[in-house]
Amino acid sequence: MSTATAFAEAPAVAAEVIAQIKAVVGDAGWSQDPGRVDPKLTEWRGKWKGHTPLLVLPKSTEEVSKVVKICYDNGVAITPQGGNTGLVGGQIPFGEILISLERMKTVRDVAPTDDTMVLESGLTLLEAQQIAEGANRYFPLSLAAEGTATVGGVISTNAGGTAVLRYGVTRDLVSGLEVVLPTGEIFNGLKRLRKDNTGYDLKQMFIGAEGTLGIITAASLKLFPIMNSRSVAIVGFESSQKAIDLLVRAKQETGGTVEAFELMGRYGLSLVLKHIPDTREPLSAEYPWYALIEVASGDPEGASAAMERLLEAAFEEELVLDAAIAQNETQAAEFWRLREDHSAAEKAEGAAWKHDVSVPLSRMAEYMEEGDKAIQAFLPGARLVAFGHVGDGNVHFNVILPEGMDAGEFNAMRDAGSKVVHDLAHAYEGSISAEHGLGRMKTQEALQYKDPVAVAAMQAVRQALDPKRIMNPHVLF
Ligand SMILES: Cc1cc2nc3c(=O)[nH]c(=O)nc-3n(C[C@H](O)[C@H](O)[C@H](O)COP(=O)(O)OP(=O)(O)OC[C@H]3O[C@@H](n4cnc5c(N)ncnc54)[C@H](O)[C@@H]3O)c2cc1C
Repeated sequence: MSTATAFAEAPAVAAEVIAQIKAVVGDAGWSQDPGRVDPKLTEWRGKWKGHTPLLVLPKSTEEVSKVVKICYDNGVAITPQGGNTGLVGGQIPFGEILISLERMKTVRDVAPTDDTMVLESGLTLLEAQQIAEGANRYFPLSLAAEGTATVGGVISTNAGGTAVLRYGVTRDLVSGLEVVLPTGEIFNGLKRLRKDNTGYDLKQMFIGAEGTLGIITAASLKLFPIMNSRSVAIVGFESSQKAIDLLVRAKQETGGTVEAFELMGRYGLSLVLKHIPDTREPLSAEYPWYALIEVASGDPEGASAAMERLLEAAFEEELVLDAAIAQNETQAAEFWRLREDHSAAEKAEGAAWKHDVSVPLSRMAEYMEEGDKAIQAFLPGARLVAFGHVGDGNVHFNVILPEGMDAGEFNAMRDAGSKVVHDLAHAYEGSISAEHGLGRMKTQEALQYKDPVAVAAMQAVRQALDPKRIMNPHVLF
């Protein structure tokens, strides 16, 4: 585990400021007990362990506002935290006051007629999905960490997940926000309107801001009709290009009802089968590439009919080598596990350099081929695990250490190795962070690739809202 010194440290916070914050939130609203605080200081994979002079657990927007104002007046830095599932270290404090939204879990409103629900930020993504379901509606954002990731966290990282292909990223699913600004003022933008052309769409600035422009305390989220049928299949291909060709075909063939199209290379799948209990080979033979495809329809028979039509056409055109359609929900869940357990399987296999890149779909197959060659040239024997939401042009292009190599030696090469992957993504008009954000981990590196005019504009916005730079000061530009 990296030590706290790996990241810039916030200055010490005066005892008087700590006392003022404690008085605002009362005894249930803060903690300095290591048993309570430590789990919030350690990143999910154990990659970083931070520290904080005070964990604050406000229970209302007013409390957040008062605490932030105290911090602003005294120039004290803050790190906001939701479920602590972020993968780039943005939620881990290194001396900042840690504000957790975990007690802010009120369902403020559910309005099926407006197709919106207004939720406080501390509710988990899974709870949000269940609240929507309770109102006979569907909230489509879904990702492997949904039992822990929060509404505030997924909005602050503009999370993607498995249904982006059909419904878009979090940015597309938010109709309004309530945010405590760095000065402590409350921006009340909890609109549930689909249309509002009265100037800048300010909420979009806070989405994906990784806690640098304020603390999101509540959100108005868009709801969709529940789908009455779903069909899940696993398909084998001889090349990643064939998988992409099928995706293009699938979008046409199914009238835009493909919800997920997840690509997996054989090596990654073999690690899942090796390390994750109760998993089994999905097809009768091994293939170089696989895709997990999910189609959903409002028509009770629609999804399986669309899937069968699609696969029939794909076999005829020799796009696919083999396919299995899940016969029931248990089998569909088994197929999904093969995709979702990739991270856990990689972790069990050994040290890895993780990447979260996107490139235009039309260049994806070529990018992965060239990336493989470039990594082999850089570190012969490195093992590539490529998987991800390829429907969105997003791939986790991860590199596991060569067999027999010392993990310390491999980790020491991480920055140079990642540069190979990221330089190539940039050359292919891509992004070095398609999903997880920049956090503390990638902010400096991103400066090499980001348009300087965009960086200057972002800095100007931040300076206007947070002239003392108290909000997550070492995250973003
Ligand atoms: C197993 C696993 C699978 C994942 N899969 C995906 C995936 O498919 N797609 C994807 O996009 N991401 C994925 N992620 C990462 C994803 O970013 C997080 O899961 C999620 O979006 C973060 O939510 P959180 O509540 O845990 O936020 P945290 O980790 O607590 O915080 C993340 C960032 O948001 C800020 N923040 C948190 N809450 C607030 C708030 N209320 N106001 C202002 N700032 C705030 C923090 O300061 C930090 O910078 C995955 C993570 C894991 C562990």
